Amino acid sequence: MKTIHEQHFLSGKYIIVAGGGIGGLTFCVALQRFLENNNQEINPPPHIVVYERELSLDDIGREGYSLSIRSDPLSGGMQILQKLDLLDQILGESNPGTYFTVFNNDFTPLIEFQSPPVEGLSQSTASIARSKLREILHKNISPSIAVHWNHGIESVEELENGQVIVTLMNGHQEKCDLLIAADGSNSKGRRAIRSQNELRFAGAVSIAARTQPLEKLPPPIDKTWGSVLGVNGNFLFVAPSDQRSALWSVSYLSDKPSEPRPAGTMSEEEIEQVLSEAHQRLVSFGEPMPTLFKKTLRSSVSVFNAKDMEPFRNHGSVIFIGDAQHAMSPFAGNGANMAMMDGYKLAEQMILAKHLSTAVQAYDDLCIPRSINAIKMSHRTIAIGHSQGIWKYMWVTMLKIVAYFFGFNSKSEQ
Ligand SMILES: Cc1cc2nc3c(=O)[nH]c(=O)nc-3n(C[C@H](O)[C@H](O)[C@H](O)COP(=O)(O)OP(=O)(O)OC[C@H]3O[C@@H](n4cnc5c(N)ncnc54)[C@H](O)[C@@H]3O)c2cc1C
Repeated sequence: MKTIHEQHFLSGKYIIVAGGGIGGLTFCVALQRFLENNNQEINPPPHIVVYERELSLDDIGREGYSLSIRSDPLSGGMQILQKLDLLDQILGESNPGTYFTVFNNDFTPLIEFQSPPVEGLSQSTASIARSKLREILHKNISPSIAVHWNHGIESVEELENGQVIVTLMNGHQEKCDLLIAADGSNSKGRRAIRSQNELRFAGAVSIAARTQPLEKLPPPIDKTWGSVLGVNGNFLFVAPSDQRSALWSVSYLSDKPSEPRPAGTMSEEEIEQVLSEAHQRLVSFGEPMPTLFKKTLRSSVSVFNAKDMEPFRNHGSVIFIGDAQHAMSPFAGNGANMAMMDGYKLAEQMILAKHLSTAVQAYDDLCIPRSINAIKMSHRTIAIGHSQGIWKYMWVTMLKIVAYFFGFNSKSEQ
């Protein structure tokens, strides 16, 4: 085994990863894999800990939704999972369905997007419960990396000597050499040291929920997942949220954000009000929507605003990745893919580069353009998804053309 000498900038360093979500855990898995695959050892090795706000790996809270993992030119999560040798485990736990469908409001298919095959991948797209993806990533991090649950980070301060003081929510303070801020779109680290980079409202409000476990997933979501475009201004998304339950989300355009209501924070009366609004918005959608609505798990009901943020370049000893660096709304359908690519690419650059600044510059050069594209795409999705009348007709035609040019196997039935 080749030893990277003490001068490797990671040698003996204390690294804190803020957030044990998709990007933070991918970074941890990838760092170890790069060392193993290059048959390298950094001696003395860096000491890495993950501080995660949630109480435990089973804390399903905001995790009760599924993620589509993609391999198309605008994405690449499947390829990262393959490179990390995790793809088989992911496919073993994935939800039914391997393609995305735009439906008519009676759920007959309008356009089916089947990603073109990618060399080396047994499947080009997968959908998996976020909690399952996180569980698999967590299971695959090196035993030398401790993940501390219920250890939220409250604040971060960069010192002149380049070290970072991290204050936890329990008041405990620690000094580290490097902080990987992977604590999601509302990153505390970003608020503390990049306060100018704020989330902005992207113009859509969603009401979302998942169902109780069902006997079986109703058609067509036993085979696909997808959207119904602008019915009276309401954009519907339905997908399996795991192998036995489904997620629905209905959204509408708005000039201003609504009061966010995360799952599990509303009284029974408030849930009833939100469900009654959702019911009105969903009235024109055919089966399986009425069945899914009837089976809604009340504790999972939430109201959230689509928000995003232009990516910024990193500098110093606090490196932002994933949603903390380039928050994107669920309308991108790509934030987890981006977070995995970020974690992987940052780990790769950190192992290959001679200096932290070179690694970070190379990482930003890769990450920023692709996340800008993903955010632009999410704005288009918001416009298309809520369009009505002649606009809707034009967008559907346009989608068919785009699907054709990107090599998606687009099937039109209207
Ligand atoms: C309904 C919905 C559907 C989506 N669908 C898709 C999809 O189909 N495909 C896709 O690619 N993306 C999708 N996304 C987006 C995707 O989930 C996110 O973009 C992705 O999880 C971002 O990864 P991340 O690692 O940056 O942040 P996260 O995965 O959010 O991880 C951040 C972690 O940090 C923790 N944390 C937060 N604050 C602190 C703190 N102060 N201290 C310590 N820990 C903290 C959080 O608990 C969390 O575990 C969807 C999102 C939503 C909400």
